[in-house]
Amino acid sequence: MPAYVVGHKIPDSDSICSAIALSYLKTSIGEETVPARLGELSPETLFILDKFGFEQPMLKTSYAGDSVYIVDHSDIELAPDDIDKATILGIIDHHKLGDLTTSTPLECWIRPVGCTNTIIKMMFDFHSVEIPKNIAGAMMCAILSDTVIFKSPTTTTADKKCVEALAEISGIKDYKALGMEMFKVKSAVAGTPVRELVKRDFKDFNMNGNKVGIGQLEVIDLAVFDNIKAELAADIIKLKQEGGRHSVLLLLTDIMKEGSELLIVSDDDALSSKAFNQATVDGKVWLDGVLSRKKQIVPPLQEVFA
Ligand code: MG
Ligand code: MG
Ligand code: MG
Repeated sequence: MPAYVVGHKIPDSDSICSAIALSYLKTSIGEETVPARLGELSPETLFILDKFGFEQPMLKTSYAGDSVYIVDHSDIELAPDDIDKATILGIIDHHKLGDLTTSTPLECWIRPVGCTNTIIKMMFDFHSVEIPKNIAGAMMCAILSDTVIFKSPTTTTADKKCVEALAEISGIKDYKALGMEMFKVKSAVAGTPVRELVKRDFKDFNMNGNKVGIGQLEVIDLAVFDNIKAELAADIIKLKQEGGRHSVLLLLTDIMKEGSELLIVSDDDALSSKAFNQATVDGKVWLDGVLSRKKQIVPPLQEVFA
């Protein structure tokens, strides 16, 4: 029976490309492994798979009795629902250490870098396995996505070096242009149902017993939201009620202006003031320089709930 590699719920490009790259690496060192996904893919991820000729990993949500590598997360909230009935063979991640535990020894690669694929590149190097051209291209795109083409404060020297190396392997000369092409795909939000947008890159966090949902949409120009911002704001109110959440935050990130407009609905009217030192006006506030949920939104929020 093969083992699986799976990323977080509401998969992003890093989760999917990590699953593809790691399963290739594991299989080539004699451990038969299959990439999987926990949900539908975003237009950005479909663009990457299409560009480098990959099929979508299999949709698999139950892992009871299976062996699995967990990539791009280590929080129970983001993992498969029955992960407690699976054997976790390893965790490869670049987020804060979550609450997944195991009853058997595991392989753990956790590094404070901008993308899981940067760590997987280190694993390829560790095992002296050559990265195929198309896998290198997909890994490179995942790093450009997670680091917002190196603009995110999560970006490290390792990520940049890794992209350079992967660009060379994949034969992509202008990787920044490809990154922009990818973010253009991401910015095409017109005609998409509002709930689909809110949940496109959405994560629930357990903050000291409070469920806090945080979504993020990264675009080239916030003007794409002008006609639908009121609907987005109305929808996060619904989402808060439906999920019994304490708060829902939606980050509308402008990757060119390098900041985010935060839409927020919360049981605590002062949440934004407490976490970000900025009060909301009509449930909205511009946070200059804020590009990263992981590094700039989650930690100050957790402090408020501590
Ligand atoms: Mg991710
Ligand atoms: Mg990631
Ligand atoms: Mg992201």
